[in-house]
Amino acid sequence: MEYTLNKIVDLLNLEDFSEIYSKADEIRKENVGDIVHIRAILEFSNYCGRKCKYCGLNCTNKSIKRYRMSSEEIISTAFEAAMNGYKTLVLQSGEDAYYTPEILGEIIKSIKKFNIDITLSTGEMDYDSYAHLKECGADRYLLKHETADEDLYQYLHPCGTLKERVQCLKNIKKLGYETGGGFMVGLPNQTAEILAKDILLLKEIGCEMAGIGTYITNPNTELKDSPNGSTDMTKRAVALTRIIMPKIHLPATTSLGVLDAKEKEDVFSCGANVIMQKVTPSKYKALYEIYPSKLSETNIKLQRIKLEDEIKSLNRIPL
Ligand code: SF4
Repeated sequence: MEYTLNKIVDLLNLEDFSEIYSKADEIRKENVGDIVHIRAILEFSNYCGRKCKYCGLNCTNKSIKRYRMSSEEIISTAFEAAMNGYKTLVLQSGEDAYYTPEILGEIIKSIKKFNIDITLSTGEMDYDSYAHLKECGADRYLLKHETADEDLYQYLHPCGTLKERVQCLKNIKKLGYETGGGFMVGLPNQTAEILAKDILLLKEIGCEMAGIGTYITNPNTELKDSPNGSTDMTKRAVALTRIIMPKIHLPATTSLGVLDAKEKEDVFSCGANVIMQKVTPSKYKALYEIYPSKLSETNIKLQRIKLEDEIKSLNRIPL
């Protein structure tokens, strides 16, 4: 079946989505199996030079305390994650110019010695910077496009354009990174047509992974009065992405669990095959608030064991 924009819109609006969920689960099983990939995520700096309207880390928010982890702290946390079974570390930060490509590159080289894959999620950079980080050993790059609608993108992101964002993703892809895009569901003024465009953009870029998360309102932002997005619509978008891109890696994003732990569990039965576990040290974790969430103290070893048990209880295989 050809999944055109109109077709996807019709499917997103279906009253009963249960058949589509089952189909997505079948396609997931056939194409990526029962393994759930557990990714450790380390949020190493909450400084950001950008002004994304929905994000608590945006540089106009003066109410949060900012932090940067030293190279040594980042490397030692990565070591602990690797020693406790993590196969991938996601290094995430705001767009923080303090970490030049050279500094980040040295951190990557040190971490690669622990035999762990590295996903970078550090925002927009020029082609040469992405190339340098790839040469230093980074394996994957996650840069969500957030919304594929130009007007909505511009409204939410006064610091950049959708065109620039997509060009960054194309550069990342060209350089041979495993490329991750993604978008939010339930943004103010978002329509089913925009969501369909989001899914089709992932396909057009050729993304190998996609973070599809529910929009959660942050009270410290300009959008503080907008409602949270729908977890049901988020799962629908995940399921359709699985059907349209059968081999893609799809995380059960943190935002789903923040709104409803049950939803996070459910998303594994409608297409997701990846989960992120924060390994950010406790003293920094609460300060990395793109949106509000209740976070427990970090215990890398115990949280890994607990997560593995939870995945097994869903008859899936943790990796
Ligand atoms: S969404 Fe990312 S780039 Fe935008 S303000 Fe937040 S941390 Fe910065």
